[in-house]
Amino acid sequence: MTSATPQPPRIDTSKAHPARVYDWLLGGKDNYPVDEAVGSTLPPEARDGARQNREFMHRAAAYLAGQGVDQFLDIGTGIPTAPNLHQIVQRTVPSARIVYADNDPIVLRHAEALLISDPAGATDYIQADVREPEQIVRHARGVLDFDRPIALSVIALMHFISDEQDAHGIVRRLVDVLPPGSYLVLSHAGIDVYPELAQQVVDQYAKGGIRLAFRTRDEVARFFDGLEMVPPGLVTATEWTGSATPPADPEGSGIYAGVARIS
Ligand code: SAH
Repeated sequence: MTSATPQPPRIDTSKAHPARVYDWLLGGKDNYPVDEAVGSTLPPEARDGARQNREFMHRAAAYLAGQGVDQFLDIGTGIPTAPNLHQIVQRTVPSARIVYADNDPIVLRHAEALLISDPAGATDYIQADVREPEQIVRHARGVLDFDRPIALSVIALMHFISDEQDAHGIVRRLVDVLPPGSYLVLSHAGIDVYPELAQQVVDQYAKGGIRLAFRTRDEVARFFDGLEMVPPGLVTATEWTGSATPPADPEGSGIYAGVARIS
C-alpha cells in the first residue's frame, strides 16, 4: 500500500535538506554535495549523535514490540536505513502495522524500502508535514485501529520545529488522539548537554539554510507533560535502556531520548 504518486518526486539539489544531511552523517549514499557541504563542516560528534539516535530508535522499537505494541505511527522517518523501524518490530510481532510519514520528497523516492512488510503485517507511507498533524492522523486511520494502542514516534524530528511553529502543541494534538495504553517515543537534540558543540551544529545548519531548534532538557521534558515515563525516564540516547538499570559505561551523547505511556 502506498500513497506515492506516479510521478517521481522532484528532488531539490540546490539546497541542503535535513533527511539528506542525516543520511550523510549516518554514512549513507542518498545525499548530494549540498548536504555533504553541511555535514562535513559539523563537529565529528554530530556523526556520533546520529548513530546514537538511530540506535535509540532500534532499542525503543524492540522494547515496544516486546510490550506487545503492534501499531506504530512514525513521523519524520528519514531515508530508509536498515534496519528500519518496521523491520525491528516485525521480528517480534510479524503482524505489526506501521505508518510512516515524512515531508521530504527524497524519502518518498526511497519509500519502497519502507513498504516491504512482513506479509502478516502492513506498512504504509505518506508524504506529509508534522505541522499538519490532522492530515497524518486522517491517513493513519485508514491503516491503524485508533481504538487500540499505537506507538507514536517522533525521533530526531521536533528540533526542526520552532516554538513559533508550536512544536509542543503539535505533539500534544497527536498524543490527544491516541487511546489509553499508547506510547510516545521522542528523541531530540539538546542545547545544554554540550552547549558549544550544539551551538556549532545549529550555526552550520543555519549556513546551509536549515533552522534548528535544539532545546534544553526542561523544554524537551515538556513534550512528555502528563504522561507516564517508562524507566529510565528522559535521559541521553545512550543511557536509554528501557529499564531502570543504566548501561555500564555509556558513551556521552547530546541527544535526549524518552518513551512514555499514555493513559
Ligand atoms: N526518525 C529518523 C530520521 C530523523 S532525521 C531517525 O531518527 O533515524 C529527521 C527527519 O525529519 C528527516 O527525514 C526530515 O525530512 C524529517 N522532517 C523534518 N521536518 C519535517 C516536517 N515538518 N514534517 C515531517 N517530517 C519532517
